[in-house]
Amino acid sequence: MKAPRANRYRTHWAGQLRAGDVGERVRVAGWVHRRRDHGGLIFIDVRDRTGLLQLVFRPEEAPEAHAAAGKLRAEDVITAEGQLVPREEGTVNPELPTGEVELVVSDLEQLADSETPPFQIDEDEPVGEELRLRYRYLDLRKERMRDNVILRHEVVKAIRDHLSEEGFLEIETPIMTRSTPEGARDFLVPSRLIRGSWYALPQSPQLFKQLLMVSGFERYFQIPRCFRDEDFRADRQPEFTQLDMEMAFVDEEDVIETVDRLLGHVLAVGGVEIELPLERITYDEAMLRYGSDRPDRRLGVEIVDLSDVFRTSEFKVFAGAIESGGVVRALKAGGDWPRSRFDALTGKAQELGAKGLAWAVAENGSWRSPIAKFLSADEIGGATERLGAGEGEAILIVADKPEVAARVLGALRAEVAGDGRSGHDVFWVVDFPMFEWNEDEARWDPLHHPFTAPIGDLDGDPGAWRSRAYDVVFDGWEIGGGSIRINTPEVQQKVFDALGIGPDEARERFGFLLEALTYGAPPHGGIAFGIDRLVALLAAAPSIRDAIPFPKAASGNDPLTGAPAPVDPRQLKELGVKLDL
Ligand code: ASP
Repeated sequence: MKAPRANRYRTHWAGQLRAGDVGERVRVAGWVHRRRDHGGLIFIDVRDRTGLLQLVFRPEEAPEAHAAAGKLRAEDVITAEGQLVPREEGTVNPELPTGEVELVVSDLEQLADSETPPFQIDEDEPVGEELRLRYRYLDLRKERMRDNVILRHEVVKAIRDHLSEEGFLEIETPIMTRSTPEGARDFLVPSRLIRGSWYALPQSPQLFKQLLMVSGFERYFQIPRCFRDEDFRADRQPEFTQLDMEMAFVDEEDVIETVDRLLGHVLAVGGVEIELPLERITYDEAMLRYGSDRPDRRLGVEIVDLSDVFRTSEFKVFAGAIESGGVVRALKAGGDWPRSRFDALTGKAQELGAKGLAWAVAENGSWRSPIAKFLSADEIGGATERLGAGEGEAILIVADKPEVAARVLGALRAEVAGDGRSGHDVFWVVDFPMFEWNEDEARWDPLHHPFTAPIGDLDGDPGAWRSRAYDVVFDGWEIGGGSIRINTPEVQQKVFDALGIGPDEARERFGFLLEALTYGAPPHGGIAFGIDRLVALLAAAPSIRDAIPFPKAASGNDPLTGAPAPVDPRQLKELGVKLDL
């Protein structure tokens, strides 16, 4: 970092002093990180943005500074001046970038007092989330959090630099706008001037970026805040940051190649080298092998389809499921578990919607299993071989509709695979279905969003349509997703029709988009990435909250400011809003 302008607080950054600076007269400023009194000598580690520096106070050389240092407490703010000297042999600290030097202080001034912090800053001991967030400004003083904030800056800067070089323009879109359907509820803002009307906070800039393509900007990006009012889910934030991009006159290949280059550059900034081009797997393959469209492929185990092994089985649970259009799929897992573990996994499978879970342990060339007596030796042998199950290995089997078998075995896979994750795995999932059936609401839901270009017979069954969508998966998290878009009002209305949004409702909600599509909308497509998750993954942070300077708690509130909070009844009156609690 560039040297600071010398002023009454400092001449140098504390964390940047090195052996080459020895002999210089130096003034530094910062917080008292730690104090140690040693037979007359006082040592203080002073901390600024750039790191730590050891200050030494000698009673005989600077009695006043020494006396003042004796009274300092953790997190007091100081400025100190002295001579930079090499540390004595044996006291060099190789862990610290400034570990070869120390500052012998002749002048010390305390600039601000600190109360005793509610948790220690100089140690990374586990502290309750609520307390960390309540005192976030102190939590952010910790080295780990500071590094995360700096990494976030570097990632965002790398994105800006790289995309600018590739001809993308950073363009802002409104925060107070109309609803964009990305599958969540909107946060709403009442209008005071137009009573009874509401702005929605954007779930994404989707429609605006499409309009920018109609405007002819061709290559757009933005790093916007997005808002989605979803039910409580661990590690989700109601407001989050995306990298949002869009390009005109492109197909999937163009977007994917552009993003490959971008990711190669940005992940390297976070210390992760990836091989390009990134691998692509289809949605169907991901669901079949991993039971998830965002699998963590680092967990070695894969799901195996055994339908052909059991098609003619005497065991009706299997054969019957296959006959009625279902599948029999299985997973081999760890070891010699007690019965209670299988019972617990069965319970979990049922919770996830499976009728049941069959299990077996490979033993002496056969299976120890409640269902072994219903199966032929050929079936057992065939299934064991297909799974590659060794002696003593457990086998979990689901016979159900393909979606259910995938979902259930996907979840069990993540549960039983243990912690065998190492390295990183980044890849594309492509060739998605356009819709998935929502049982509860008895309607189609888009797998991405309704502006994604469909493929297939648009006058036929929407369940058979595919979409021109693509996702990027990073270590088992979907960090990015996008698609080639619809660029004609006719196709857009077909998709709305499939979703049960008739022409009148479509005109009312998205008239501006449909109209724009009539004025020469080029073929276009794009993608968006979750910046918070990306930074959390690169920082190996246990939670997405560690990658956000001021996040909400898991419950959606902010322990620091107390938001969300009631407002003055006069404000509500002005807005024409009445509460009905
Ligand atoms: N708007 C989408 C989202 O936020 C991403 C995209 O299709 O570009 O998930």
